[in-house]
Amino acid sequence: MDNCIFCKIANGEILSATLYEDEDFRVILDLGPASKGHALILPKTHAANIYELSDELAGKAMILAKKMAKKLTDALNCDGFNIVQNNGEVAGQTVFHFHMHLIPRYKGDGVGLTWTPGKLSDEDRDDILHKVNN
Ligand code: AMP
Ligand code: ZN
Repeated sequence: MDNCIFCKIANGEILSATLYEDEDFRVILDLGPASKGHALILPKTHAANIYELSDELAGKAMILAKKMAKKLTDALNCDGFNIVQNNGEVAGQTVFHFHMHLIPRYKGDGVGLTWTPGKLSDEDRDDILHKVNN
């Protein structure tokens, strides 16, 4: 993808604060961090979102997320950890090259990743089970 900023960062055409690199991924510090140590896992090949990502890279990305969560937790001594992955504008995606957010959490950090729980209605439960399982 010629005009994709994360393709350029992942492949080293644009310099970034890199925490990890291998043949498939680069892990960089987010320039607009939610908390200290907020990082992004970027595949080196372009996929706009999770729907386009290969099974192989999806599997490797999750293993890398686990490795980086441990590394960042040990290095920064955070109290918890969120892994977030947005798909589509309505879900908060702003850069349309698949990425996983690694967000160290600290007591009292005020990072707002929560929502107000609703209530699963019988109608929705039946509708969803019918649509997904058929
Ligand atoms: P999302 O909203 O899930 O698409 O996340 C995009 C993330 O990329 C945001 O957290 C931005 O702060 C971050 N971001 C955008 N441009 C850059 C960049 N050039 N280098 C590092 N992080 C970036
Ligand atoms: Zn890209």
